[in-house]
Amino acid sequence: MEPVECSLAALSTLDSSDFDAVTRINEACLKVLLDPALWAWMTAFTVISIAGGALIGRLKGRMTAGIIWAAVLGPIGWIVIALGPSRLLACPECAKPNQPDAIVCRQCGANLKRAMQRTARSRLKAGDNSAPP
Ligand SMILES: [Zn+2]
Repeated sequence: MEPVECSLAALSTLDSSDFDAVTRINEACLKVLLDPALWAWMTAFTVISIAGGALIGRLKGRMTAGIIWAAVLGPIGWIVIALGPSRLLACPECAKPNQPDAIVCRQCGANLKRAMQRTARSRLKAGDNSAPP
């Protein structure tokens, strides 16, 4: 039995009525697909993609979206999340961007919920009704 390689060239010259030849190319292609090195590379690629998506998503305040986009599209998902809208909230005290679920500002430690209410109240006091409370 001559060795067969799994390639398009081998497939195009394959005589599909030759059962042995079909079996040999099947086995050769299965060996390529089940190669542990291939799986190791694919696993590493997926883990790195998702880690990158999580990091970029966090910078935008959208970590879950970043993980999902990167898991589905790989590095293309990084671009999707990087170009998408940010959900970070600027601290009313120091203007530092914070995660949308943050309770206190990570720069100045201000209680974000209370600080936002205070800002809304002072806007009302100043007679500025342009922004909703
Ligand atoms: Zn702050």
